[in-house]
Amino acid sequence: MPLPAMPFQASGGPTSAFSSTGGEIDVDIAVIGASVAGLFAAQALARLGYRCALVGPDPAVSRQQDGFDQRIFAISPASWDWMEQQGLTAAIDAARVGVIDRMHLEAASWSSPQPIVLDAYRAAVDQLALTVEQSELIAVGQQAIAMTGVLRLKDALVSLRADQGGKPASRRSIQLENGQQLHAKLLMGCDGAGSKLRQLANIASRRFDYQSSAVVANFDIDSHHRHTAFQWFSDQGILALLPLPGHAMSMVWSAPQPVAESLMGLEPAALCRHVQAFIDVQGCDAPGLRACINRPASFPLVEALCDRPFADRLVLIADAAHVIHPMAGQGLNLGIGDIIELIAVLSTRSARHDPGALTVIERYARRRVEAVLAMSWLTKGLHQAFRAPLPGLIGGFANWAWSRVAASSWLQSAMIQQAVRQGPR
Ligand SMILES: Cc1cc2nc3c(=O)[nH]c(=O)nc-3n(C[C@H](O)[C@H](O)[C@H](O)COP(=O)(O)OP(=O)(O)OC[C@H]3O[C@@H](n4cnc5c(N)ncnc54)[C@H](O)[C@@H]3O)c2cc1C
Repeated sequence: MPLPAMPFQASGGPTSAFSSTGGEIDVDIAVIGASVAGLFAAQALARLGYRCALVGPDPAVSRQQDGFDQRIFAISPASWDWMEQQGLTAAIDAARVGVIDRMHLEAASWSSPQPIVLDAYRAAVDQLALTVEQSELIAVGQQAIAMTGVLRLKDALVSLRADQGGKPASRRSIQLENGQQLHAKLLMGCDGAGSKLRQLANIASRRFDYQSSAVVANFDIDSHHRHTAFQWFSDQGILALLPLPGHAMSMVWSAPQPVAESLMGLEPAALCRHVQAFIDVQGCDAPGLRACINRPASFPLVEALCDRPFADRLVLIADAAHVIHPMAGQGLNLGIGDIIELIAVLSTRSARHDPGALTVIERYARRRVEAVLAMSWLTKGLHQAFRAPLPGLIGGFANWAWSRVAASSWLQSAMIQQAVRQGPR
């Protein structure tokens, strides 16, 4: 099925807007990495009027007509609102978007018997999150790129010209795999967790290995999920089931390495039985899993944070700057939050004159520190709390805190208000 037309006009054709001498190209901003963060950032920058190039190969994803992608993202209402303002959601097939109205959280390995149930209706918000396939986000991002006149260069970045040793320069230069030289006032790294730009610029990243992997798979279910997401915290890891459209759910099981390996060793039918058996032990009212509908995949889990995700005329955003545990479904939402703040900073008069000026980049970086650290503390803290039994007083306090939240609709509403805002702030 073809995507619907984008609801905004294309700006001038790419070739007219970019100066090129002897095969060298000059732009205002070069975005490195053409997955979701890079696509969304580049189209937004072009819409602000910057001459923008997007560098890197197309991501290898296939848009499934039947069934769902392996990669499903929970998108926060704040991120969705921004995508809507950009005209991106109008091109997403509504029939492929899942809705999370309720979250049912179980502390399986604690003595707290009561689940925490977060309910959008009780907190007076439209929904807690939406679930969207990665391929859908990439398709709309690519369409927006084509329509906003972004210069698309599909070769990978291979080298970065050294800065001028303290002397202010008006451009930073990179070389692509095909030998092409690109000069930009600002380089923006959206090239993911293993960022080549971060390595070339010698930007340090603090790494924490969770010694776990996330196993993802999608399932047909035997009754409607009623738009409820389920999450079980246990010493076997954190199992999440997210509602997809219709009778289907997407699993992310963030499991200690040996558990993840044994899950990945199972055939899809055996995996389905195994996950169902785990849920049955928890005794929770989740829909029954009928069949695993795609091949499971696994992702090693690390946290990687850059204290200073920038250098001379260069800034890192999304996973290139910060990778967090996926238990809260917030990694891409944080990346979209980066884009929103960067766009706000780059809309100012001083930034328009020189988007790569250090004062501009630092202003952006200051705005993002708090959101990234808060998400890091939350996810790392929860991981530690459920990894092994907590000792004496700390364990008692954790159980007490869980029971308080489970019993208090005020605390639940406060958590929801905080969660739905994730993205911009
Ligand atoms: C199991 C799991 C579940 C998750 N669930 C959620 C969720 O529900 N919600 C959420 O918000 N987040 C979620 N996340 C986090 C989310 O997946 C990431 O934050 C997001 O995909 C990062 O996107 P990105 O565009 O920054 O990086 P990537 O998607 O990694 O893209 C990087 C791009 O850079 C390109 N690239 C690399 N090197 C070069 C080079 N030298 N030159 C040019 N291009 C290059 C790559 O080809 C790629 O296209 C989850 C993560 C995991 C592991």
